[in-house]
Order: sequence, then structure tokens, then C-alpha cells
Amino acid sequence: MKLNIKNSFTTENLADSILDTTRRQVTEAVFSFVTPKKTKAPKVVHVSQEMAADLGIDEKETESELFKNIFTGNEVYPNTTPFAMCYGGHQFGHWAGQLGDGRAINLFEIEHQNKNWKVQLKGAGETPYSRTADGLAVLRSSVREYLCSEAMFHLGVPTTRALSLSISGDEVLRDVLYDGNPAYEKGAIVTRISPSFLRFGNFEIFSVRKDIKNLKRLVDYALKHHFSHLGAPSKENYIHFFKAISERTLEMIIHWQRVGFVHGVMNTDNMSILGLTIDFGPYGWLEGFDFGWTPNTTDREHKRYRFGNQSNIGLWNLYQLANALYPIIEEAAPLEAILEQHKVDFEQQYLQMMKSKIGLFSEEDNDLELIQSLEDNLQLVETDMTLFFRNLSRFTDEKSGLKLIEESFYNLEAITKEVKDKWAFWFLNYEVRLQQESTLSSEREEKMNAVNPKYVLRNYMSQMAIDEADKGNYTLIDELFELLKRPYDAQPENEKWFAKRPEWARNKVGCSMLSCSS
Ligand code: AMP
Ligand code: MG
Repeated sequence: MKLNIKNSFTTENLADSILDTTRRQVTEAVFSFVTPKKTKAPKVVHVSQEMAADLGIDEKETESELFKNIFTGNEVYPNTTPFAMCYGGHQFGHWAGQLGDGRAINLFEIEHQNKNWKVQLKGAGETPYSRTADGLAVLRSSVREYLCSEAMFHLGVPTTRALSLSISGDEVLRDVLYDGNPAYEKGAIVTRISPSFLRFGNFEIFSVRKDIKNLKRLVDYALKHHFSHLGAPSKENYIHFFKAISERTLEMIIHWQRVGFVHGVMNTDNMSILGLTIDFGPYGWLEGFDFGWTPNTTDREHKRYRFGNQSNIGLWNLYQLANALYPIIEEAAPLEAILEQHKVDFEQQYLQMMKSKIGLFSEEDNDLELIQSLEDNLQLVETDMTLFFRNLSRFTDEKSGLKLIEESFYNLEAITKEVKDKWAFWFLNYEVRLQQESTLSSEREEKMNAVNPKYVLRNYMSQMAIDEADKGNYTLIDELFELLKRPYDAQPENEKWFAKRPEWARNKVGCSMLSCSS
């Protein structure tokens, strides 16, 4: 296995001069050199061959000892220097100080087919940023991150990727519900891949510490390597840099709303400057369409990161980034203008996205109202989002509308006359509105099916794969991985996954209730 290593991050940013992993505030440095922890009995459980190919690693090589050793942290690839990044963040609305890669260890950068990829292990041991924790990850959260990041990629949602899922052979102590019942679980390591793992928090930390030298240096690095089309470093281009991040963040969140993904922990340390979905923790997929839903039990009270609030939080996070960049821009007005524009753009793009989900591509005056009344209807009784939109593509007329979407209701008894009437009224308006469209119904079905996935990684599906993996059986991981490579295809042989969440999963830990414990 010969990798085309090309390191830029460690060569162009300042390193921490201390070389041990004592927990500490790391100042005047962007990263610290660290060494992954050797594990007891590493075993590669699954590999994303698509990702491997993008890195120039062929299938045979993914089966090698070297692959296993490198991507479980048991061997350091020649001439590379693993490191952990220093960042801070606003967690649940409050500045939390230094966080950093507490259990993510960057291995190296690979250049292949003119693309540069950062390669990172999650769960490979302690770093100076591990605070009170162990730097490790458990199997359940690793399966979830591995499956979901690749599923997101195939859904066309901007995301960090995953190369491999491995078990370490070590035991990791975790208190899943934070209720004083810790238990040992299997340790695991995911190899994550991204063009960049820089977060809003990487810039915030230097700004808060008034370390303008490193702030500027890191922004210049990001400009040069990730936004080179914007031009050379200058105040003007720092503003463009912020604008580009604002636009990418917006695009990512629109995609989340389209597929029904709730990130769960949109802290600024979990926001990528490339607008990629990053840090798959207590995320979840909507079953019933519900703006108030969040899977994260840690956020149960205020539901700050609920489905319907993700765009507001994206904006709030961008405000924090704007504050962080201010010292090198020294002008508030252009940043404020970008944030104002973000709000306008969101409304517009959200409407376009929702219209595409119901097959509307022309402009009519009442489109916003039609979408809003649809969202109201979807929340009358528990209505499965994925089933609803997918089935709607076969809509012909108001009369058969209700029959078509019946399958998406969780409780048919809840469908009172009032609910039926509301739907009938909406279908009537929808039927009339469709007549303004020039697309043929067959064409509309095709277009709708290209934006409404048939298969998403429902929370209970991951949990089933986890329960089996815990017993050493990884076939369901593979089955789901394959299924989710083609989320928009009919795949009639996989119809069993095009179904509502089973009742047993309604209130089960891991299915509807997830915590940050991982
Ligand atoms: P998260 O909530 O996963 O985004 O993590 C917030 C911070 O906690 C980050 O700085 C993580 O690196 C750190 N962290 C989370 N879990 C662990 C762990 N098991 N060991 C060390 N650091 C951790
Ligand atoms: Mg994080």
C-alpha cells in the first residue's frame, strides 16, 4: 500500500512545542503532535471501497495487515506525524473554552486525482485536548458515524466521509444515559476523511485568546487550500471567505431539511468551514415529520437543536464565526450584510427545496402558502416523512390522495374527519397547482424521486446493526451500507426497509433517545 502523502496543515501552521499528552491549555499553536494508542486486538470490520478508491487504495490493499495497522493507529505510516487540532466552541449557546481533538487523531493528508484528503482516526486515544475523558470511542457510536457519513454522501448531502470501521479489542467504560450506570462496551475506531476538518471553533479559539497571529495564519491557510478561487489574503477576501462559509452552511442545512436529518449537537465546534456534515453524535432521522423533534436527550429540555431550528442555529453559529473573524477584518457592516443575506437566501432556497419535494418547478403566488399548509398537515398526526414524500410522487388527483399517503400514518385511528378534511383540502389545492406545471406526471415522478430518498438510515436500523455487531456479527452493517449507496433507487428487493419505524423502537435507547455519550 503506497500512499501519496502530502502534508500541508502541519507544515504551514504552528505546532505545540510540548510533545506529551498531558491535558492542558495549548496556546500559541494550532495543533499538537500525538501518537495513536496501540490496541489489543484490532480488526477491520468494514471498508468503504468507494472512499478507498478515491484515496488510491485498491480493494486488495484494504485487506492487508498494513491497512489494518495504519487505520487502527497501531502503526504510523512512514514519514508522517499524527496530530490533534486545537479548537474551542460554543456549546449549547455558551462559550466553552478550549475543546480540541480529544479523541480524533489526524494521520496525514493524501493527494489523489488532484484532490487532497485529510485522514483522521476517531477513538484512537488521548491527546492534550482529551480533558477528563479517555480519547476512545465505543462500537455503537462508531457504527452510527460510519454508516451515516457514507449514507449522507450517497444522498448528495455535503459531508465528511468514512474509510473504515474497526474494533480495537479494548473495552471502554461508558454511562450511556448519564444516570450513574456505567458499563464496559467494545471499543472501536472510525477512519474519517475530509478535505478539511477545520471547524468554526478553530478560529474562535484564537480570536478569544487574542492570538491574532495564529488566527490570521489559519485563515490564510484555509483561503489558500480550500477557497483559493477567492484570491490572495486581504481584508476583502476575508469577507468573501466568510460569505462562502455562510453559503455553504446554508446549503448543507437545506439538504438536512430535505432528507429529514437532525444533527443533534450543532455546537460551533461541530460546524465545518466547508459546510460539511461533521461529528455524527446523537443525530437522528425524522420518522414522523415534526419541527420540534430532536433525538438528543442532552437537549431534551430546550430542544435548541430540534429539526425546525437548525437554520436559526446555523445563523447563530455564523454570528460567532463573524465575531471570531472580526479582528482581521475590523469592519462589522459587511459581515452583518452577509448574515442578513443568509436569512433571505434561506427563506428562498428552503421554499425552492420544499417545492422540488412536491414536484413544483414553476413560480406561482401561493406556493409559500401551499408549502406551509403542507407542513401543518404533516404535523396533525404522526406522519412518516420519508414514506409520505416518496409516495406522493404517484399523486394523480385529490380523490385518491389520502389513500396514497395512508401508509405514512403511524396511527390510523388518529385520522379523524377533521384530519381527513384538511388533507382533502390540501390535495385539492395541490391538484389545481399541478395543472400550472408544464412537466408530465411521469417526469414529475422521476424528479421527485431524485430528491425524496426512499431509504434513509432510520434510527432503529442503526440500532439493529449495532446490536448484531455487539455479538460479533457484521452482516447487517454490510447490508445497510449497500442499501444506502442507492437511496433514491426503488430497490424492490429491499422494500422491507421502506417502512415505518416499528413500535418496539418508539421509545428505545439508541432509537429515539440518544445522548452525547459515545
Ligand atoms: P462532541 O460533543 O463529540 O463534539 O465533543 C466535544 C468535545 O469533547 C471535543 O473536544 C471532543 O474531542 C471531546 N470528547 C468527546 N468524547 C471524548 C472522549 N471519549 N475522549 C476525549 N475527548 C472527548
Ligand atoms: Mg465534536
